[in-house]
Parts: sequence; C-alpha cells; structure tokens
Amino acid sequence: MIVGALALAGVAVAMAQGPAPAAGVQKVRFGGDRNETRIVIDLDRAASGKLLADGATDRRVVIGLPNVTVAGDLQGAGQGLVERWAIDEAAGGARLRLDLKANAEVRRRFLLPPGDGASAYRYVIDLKSTDAPGAQAPALRPTLVSAPVKASALRLKKVIVIDAGHGGKDPGSSGANTAEKDVTLAAAKALKARLEKSGRYTVVMTRQSDTFVPLEARVQVARRADADLFISLHADSGPDAATRGASVYTLSEKGTERVARVLEKDDWLMKANLPGRDRAVSQILLDLSQRATKNRSAAFAETLLQSVGEETVLLRRSHRDAGFIVLLAPDIPAVLLEMGFITNVDDEQLLKSSAGRGRLMDAVANSIESYFAAQTRIAAR
Ligand SMILES: [Zn+2]
Repeated sequence: MIVGALALAGVAVAMAQGPAPAAGVQKVRFGGDRNETRIVIDLDRAASGKLLADGATDRRVVIGLPNVTVAGDLQGAGQGLVERWAIDEAAGGARLRLDLKANAEVRRRFLLPPGDGASAYRYVIDLKSTDAPGAQAPALRPTLVSAPVKASALRLKKVIVIDAGHGGKDPGSSGANTAEKDVTLAAAKALKARLEKSGRYTVVMTRQSDTFVPLEARVQVARRADADLFISLHADSGPDAATRGASVYTLSEKGTERVARVLEKDDWLMKANLPGRDRAVSQILLDLSQRATKNRSAAFAETLLQSVGEETVLLRRSHRDAGFIVLLAPDIPAVLLEMGFITNVDDEQLLKSSAGRGRLMDAVANSIESYFAAQTRIAAR
C-alpha cells in the first residue's frame, strides 16, 4: 500500500520536474582515413541518435539527435570520408549532416560514457568506405579538428604491444636445449604476423632481436605507443619436470600500490602525461584509470585462458596475479602469459616447434579479437 502511494508521489514529482534536460554539443572530432572514418560528438550528457539518411543515394548522412541543443550552427571541413559537416537545430533537438567524399556506409553508432580520461559523453559514428578496395586515396594521418584529447578514442586500429620476455644477456629460464629468450622472441614474431595479417592492429614490439631491454623501458615503449593492450610472453620453469601448463598473470593489489611508490620515487612510469596537474588530482585520475585498467586486464586474461586452454594444458589456478614491473602501466590493460614450462619435455617440445608456437599464437590472436569485440559491445551499450 505504502509503496503504491510513494510510486504515485514519485511520478508526480517527475511530472513536476518535466522532461530530461537537453544534452549540449561541446565538440565534433574526426579520426581515421578514407577507408574508415570515426566521428565523435562530445556531449555534456547522454543522448541517443537516429539515422535519418544513410547517404546511400546522395552521399549525405543525416543523424537526428533528439533532445540535443547546439549553440548556433556548428560546421566545418571534415576528414577521411567526410567532406563537410554541420550540426544545426531541428525539431525537438539537433541534426548532424555529413557530406561524404566517397561512397560509404554507417557501420555503427554508439554512446561512450565519460571515462578513460574523457570527461564528456561521446556519441560515436563509424563510417566505412563501400568503394572497391584500392579505390581510395592513400591513408591520411589522423589529425584532430579541435582541442587535442586522448588519441585512443579516435583510433580504429588497436595498438598491441608484444613483449618478448628476457633477451640478450638475460636468457631467462632454460629447458633441455632451449632458452626462454629464444622461444619468447619466436612466439612474439609469430603473434605479430597474425595480428598484422588481420589488418585490424598496429603491432609494436619491445624487442625484435636477441637484445637486453630493461623492464621499465618495455613499459615506456607501451606508454609512448599509447597501447590498447600489452602482452608479455614468457616460459615458466620449476624444480619438478612433471609440472606443465600455461598460466596468465595480471597486476596484483600489491602491484597497484607499487605504482604509487614508483611514482613517488622517480615518476618514470608517467612521464608522458598529466602535466601541470597537482598531485591530488593526479592521484584521483591514477586511481580511476588503474581501476578501469585492472578490470580490462582481468577480462582479457579470462578470454586468453579460454583460448589458450583449447590448445595446451593450463596450470592449476591458471589466472594468477603479481606485481611484475611490465604490468605496472596504470592505463594500459596488460597480461603476462607463461606459455608453458620449459622444464617440462612436452611443453618444451610445444614451445620450440614453430607449428606448436603457431597454434598457441593463433589462440592468443583469437582471444585478442574476442576481447576487443567484447569491449566494443560494452561501449555500445
Ligand atoms: Zn620469463
């Protein structure tokens, strides 16, 4: 009974408050090239869009944005597949018009809530060229039309940093006749080839040859590349030759605390960004970014174990955590994959054969695909 009255009261209040306040357009940004172009509309609150014209007949895409306001007519030169764009007021909201340079289709549209260093809601529209491959002009370097923001939200090719464990004077563990540093490099190159073949990834390697690279420098390679994912490849070892199986490490709670200490001491980890912000703000941003990153690392680790588990034996308790330096980057999802035990005959055989490594890296590449597909679905919710 009481519930009924309250609910009624609630509706009355809502009615009294009227419709949801309109979202305001803050910026329109472009990224991508003549194959795929991403348009991002920064909004001060959530909004949805309606495809009013898909551009198939007249190369003009029109998207209605109900309950969105725009201060004056915003317009300008586009980029990639977009010749010119304009946002103006329309009945009940705003309307975005995109005049296309070439034939293209609206591949997807979704809203990104604030997060990952972005304070605005972002309504994202992805266009894909429908002209025959090769018909496009050479790829343009993505540039921002308005104030620079974190680039990753604009990029279409994900940046994957592959870290071949050990190297040079540091051989890592060794099996009967195999050194860890050699199988990690061979596996890293096999994974790079698979990802690049898909055309959906930009791959950066922390080492390409038998060289020694300090752990901190590996993290800085990933930060400079503004990586979307970091995967470190290793081979495990143990006193018992019977022990075998793959496992995945993500950053532990203790490791998270280590980040703060590293920052205190010499800041090598975060040199690249957060300039001019006071420590308190930096700390809050660090915490926020670390939490998001930790969740993503855990999500990727689970997807990876599922895939690898179809190719080889997994170690008991296969998802582990540790404070490894290579996992410390606060804003890059990162895992360390122990591909198997080099001290076990069967695992060593798997790791030293290119066919065995090939199957394992197929599984890793598949899990990267599934991970980003899942991330896109989450973002599109
Ligand atoms: Zn190792």
